[in-house]
Amino acid sequence: TATSKVLSVSQLCKVYGTTVAVDGISFEVGRNEIVGLLGPNGAGKTTTINMILGVLEPSSGSIRIEGIDIAKQRTQALSRTNFAAVYAPLPGNLTVYQNLRIFGLIYAVKKLSDRIEALLKQFDLEAFRNTKCGVLSSGEQTRVCLAKAMLNQPHLLLLDEPTASLDPATARDIRTKIREFTARDCGGVLWTSHNMYEVEEVCDRVLFLSHGKILLEGNPKTLPAEHGKTSLEELFI
Ligand code: ATP
Repeated sequence: TATSKVLSVSQLCKVYGTTVAVDGISFEVGRNEIVGLLGPNGAGKTTTINMILGVLEPSSGSIRIEGIDIAKQRTQALSRTNFAAVYAPLPGNLTVYQNLRIFGLIYAVKKLSDRIEALLKQFDLEAFRNTKCGVLSSGEQTRVCLAKAMLNQPHLLLLDEPTASLDPATARDIRTKIREFTARDCGGVLWTSHNMYEVEEVCDRVLFLSHGKILLEGNPKTLPAEHGKTSLEELFI
């Protein structure tokens, strides 16, 4: 049923003048599932994510979060979502703790102090609690962004290139943390990435977007062979 899915997108379109950025895409994200949204620059990934976030109005089509249509019950649906963008910097003059506290207050997180302590621990940020976010390395900032995104225990996490610019060990650590999120919190994840090695490792399913349409969909481990290719890279180039 629709409600067993954290995200259901149906016939979604976004048109800018004569540009069709997103051209009638339909897909779902289940609980415990990491779905990769792939495609070249300009394929429509960010436009799709912005519509799911509710910051961009679709031209047509529908988006449901746990069965709730975001066009009809926006606040209720979006309270279940959260978004972590690597390129959305946190206020740099505030400390890690202050950032988490402010966003926790905005989200009206219950037992906020306990929640912050748990997240500082989970994301290995205890040593940085009093450090201003502006001086953190990209890997440390990404961990703060993810901790922030998980403050209100979202059911759906939208991650726009969460590991871009991270070193391999930090990127692997982030992937592990996201895996833990899907396993423990039963969340669903929509993940954009240009790193095919990572996609193959972390995603349960991938959607390959080109010119606003889903061209291919499947398990990243078996999809290349199904199309007579040896790797995702070979399949998508
Ligand atoms: P990237 O990998 O580079 O981030 P993307 O897949 O996220 O690319 P989008 O940013 O979603 O791609 O853009 C999809 C298409 O829509 C592009 O052709 C882009 O130029 C166009 N587009 C996006 N926003 C607007 C806008 N506000 N007005 C006009 N065209 C837009």
